[in-house]
Amino acid sequence: MGSYDKPLPEADPDSQPFWEGCRAHRLMLQRCADCGAFRFPASRHCPHCRSTRAEWLPAKGEGSVFSWIVVVHPVPGDVYAAEVPYVVALVELAEGVRMATNIVGCDPHGIEARMPVEVVFDDVTPEITLPRFRPAAGARR
Ligand SMILES: [Zn+2]
Repeated sequence: MGSYDKPLPEADPDSQPFWEGCRAHRLMLQRCADCGAFRFPASRHCPHCRSTRAEWLPAKGEGSVFSWIVVVHPVPGDVYAAEVPYVVALVELAEGVRMATNIVGCDPHGIEARMPVEVVFDDVTPEITLPRFRPAAGARR
């Protein structure tokens, strides 16, 4: 192990349940316990009603591509240079929140807006698992 040389997320008290869920291959989302709105990223206050009450629920792990870029030319020193072409995307989850992530498992140039995607879990280190998305089973070609 120890061969993963890219930046890793650091959990804080708000995001800890999210990262623990990823490690268990479960996409967990924080939901306001008062108005029911999902929050991502997790935060202390609900952006809709300012409530500090929250609960954690497993997300469906499904969504669609909201926007994306294909990185083709890495800048000098880019730790992701060996990965090009790679996709950085904003995925809109079924729960209504948008998550910055990568789209994997398909031709980066074949991605389309609103394309259905599903979560896949990438265990990059023993402690950290990153959620990425691939075309949903029904949309894979
Ligand atoms: Zn709320």
